[in-house]
Amino acid sequence: MLQADNITIRYGPRQAVSDVSLSVNAGEITAIIGPNGAGKSTVLRALNGGLRPSSGQVLLEGLPIHQYSRRIISRHIAVVAQEGDFRFPVTVLEFVLGGRYASASTGAWGWETDHDIKVAHEVLSETELNELSGRLMNELSGGERQRAILARALATEATVLLLDEPTANLDLAHQAAILALVRRRSDLNNVAAVVVTHDINLAAEFSNHVLLMKNGQAVAFGLPSEVLTPELLRDVFDVRILVDAHPITGVPRITPVHEVRQ
Ligand code: ADP
Ligand code: MG
Repeated sequence: MLQADNITIRYGPRQAVSDVSLSVNAGEITAIIGPNGAGKSTVLRALNGGLRPSSGQVLLEGLPIHQYSRRIISRHIAVVAQEGDFRFPVTVLEFVLGGRYASASTGAWGWETDHDIKVAHEVLSETELNELSGRLMNELSGGERQRAILARALATEATVLLLDEPTANLDLAHQAAILALVRRRSDLNNVAAVVVTHDINLAAEFSNHVLLMKNGQAVAFGLPSEVLTPELLRDVFDVRILVDAHPITGVPRITPVHEVRQ
């Protein structure tokens, strides 16, 4: 559905991403993991056609992404960026309805149809935001706001979701809830998702494939059980890591081991 083939990306003379490949199919989640500055957000921007690789290419439905117009890309791909700007006092419902402007049913002048309002209310209940729909975005807690941002992306009905650290700053339960919502969309609606996250355990639990990055390079891409090994994680994060099986789900469970000095 969406793939990057050996992409290299530069910001001016600096190479931020070197020869990285990944793919995500309908109904699958690919997690991107790696230290700060590894190039994760840069890969996500290229997957959305926002940055053009200096070599290699990004294919959406088998065609180079730069052959599509921005409007067509935004019908296919919804992006949740790393930081948002919520100084403007819009309500949760208005904010979520904003996600409909990218889609086909909303007219060029931006008046929403009955269908748009129906979709917005469906995603508000999916994300358990019904009761907050009249509240202002800048007056929500971090967890509520993250859910609203995801709700807006879901309201687009895009078939590809690109999420850049959607669970940053959230507590344990809310982190898992966000990933569970994405997983549900993949399972029920065949959505393809690429999620950048620092939570390796959530990646192990919710993703089909993992891309592990360091210094702009792909260290490994494959099943969570192939990529989330003590050797690869130690190499990338420079900390000793214990990997065992989660006692309930059986997926890899990652625990950093901090050497205690006596
Ligand atoms: P990550 O998301 O893994 O933390 P990024 O993709 O944001 O990493 O950044 C990868 C590298 O590219 C870093 O060295 C960063 O400083 C650099 N970089 C990111 N965005 C820009 C930009 N707009 N201009 C120049 N350099 C950038
Ligand atoms: Mg980033």
